[in-house]
Amino acid sequence: AHRELIVFNELISRLVDFWKLDASMAKTEMILELDPELPPVLADPDQIQQLLVNLLNNAVQAMADISGPARLKLQTRRVGEKVQIAVEDSGPGVPLHLATKIFEPFFTTKEVGTGTGLGLSIAHSIMTEHQGRIFYQAASLGGAGFVLEFTASQPNP
Ligand code: ADP
Ligand code: MG
Repeated sequence: AHRELIVFNELISRLVDFWKLDASMAKTEMILELDPELPPVLADPDQIQQLLVNLLNNAVQAMADISGPARLKLQTRRVGEKVQIAVEDSGPGVPLHLATKIFEPFFTTKEVGTGTGLGLSIAHSIMTEHQGRIFYQAASLGGAGFVLEFTASQPNP
């Protein structure tokens, strides 16, 4: 598998700049909280970018017909030896009893023809290949939260 040393802050900043050009983002408030001391991680940047795009698309779709403000937060943080990326939205969230089911292939709550139900199962596979994990967490913004967790790369002695 392809692996490079990546500081996710840069990848996320670039992605968000690009994403803001999209019309669906015009009425979405983007909140970025990037840890300036985030250590690098060995990862495949293309796979991680695609994974984040899938999470952002899910969030935008989930917030399509909410009455309150559409807010999206991308956060990076270090937790001990782990590096986490959190993606949170202010949509309806995922009911607790579905919080693990959503990662199964072909699970979708979207109308036939609109969702394949593969986005999160592919995300799960990508994280497993990275010796990491993805999990659901209710968001501080009131909606869904997804955490990607990696192990920080150890600097050479
Ligand atoms: P799809 O988007 O094709 O339905 P995914 O694997 O990307 O497939 O997502 C599976 C399901 O998880 C969605 O159908 C939806 O029920 C739920 N889900 C994913 N992201 C969110 C989110 N941000 N807010 C609410 N529900 C979500
Ligand atoms: Mg999806």
